[in-house]
Amino acid sequence: SYSVTGVQTCALPISFVGFTAIGQDITDRKRIETLSVTDVLTGLFNRLKLDRDLKREIARSERYGQTLSVVLMDIDFFKSVNDEYGHQTGDRVLTIIGEIIKTNIRQVDIPGRWGGEEFLVICPETGLKGAWLVAEKLRRIIERRDFPIIGRVTASFGAAEMRPSETAESLVNRADEALYLAKKRGRNQVVATNAEPVDENFKTLGMRNQ
Ligand code: GH3
Ligand code: MG
Ligand code: MG
Repeated sequence: SYSVTGVQTCALPISFVGFTAIGQDITDRKRIETLSVTDVLTGLFNRLKLDRDLKREIARSERYGQTLSVVLMDIDFFKSVNDEYGHQTGDRVLTIIGEIIKTNIRQVDIPGRWGGEEFLVICPETGLKGAWLVAEKLRRIIERRDFPIIGRVTASFGAAEMRPSETAESLVNRADEALYLAKKRGRNQVVATNAEPVDENFKTLGMRNQ
């Protein structure tokens, strides 16, 4: 427990000791808080944190009438990386891709590991075109990176911009549908969408490898 009031009511000499102990407690708590929102392998945020932040960012965008986009990324043929080179090599690829994401997005963007070999970047105050640029930048860097042992790896991306009153689930679903399309069109590419979820006339701004 972190009783701050306990310190304030203590006599002076004891309160000094109490302060030190609480200082330690706060450090421990910070560490625990950091761990609870971090994906251990990549050092990016974890799913729990992404879920929370996305809800908060959506509420904020709604409140201030700003745009918001998400980019969902999935490594191409990652199963065969594991199968051919082993799980440890696969893990190393995930770590490097985590670093690539972290170092190539804006400070206000929120990067995390969405699932096994899937990553999500929440881009506040970013429209669809901006999200597409974020994804395309990452795609190119990954494509050109020389990964240890395996050499080349590519990834596919789906980007979606928030619609008025849209839920977090719906927004990510639309990014996932765009990602699915990127896979279907041949992988190593970005598809950005403004379409409704499960829209027959799925309108896309997909761009092939450039
Ligand atoms: P696609 O291009 O369609 O995405 O093909 P894929 O092989 O990447 O897709 P699939 O969903 O079949 O395989 C995902 C693989 O990701 C399977 C699983 O072994 C691997 N994977 C998921 N999480 C981890 C992890 O933490 N470490 C490692 N090394 N591999 C992981
Ligand atoms: Mg996957
Ligand atoms: Mg994959």
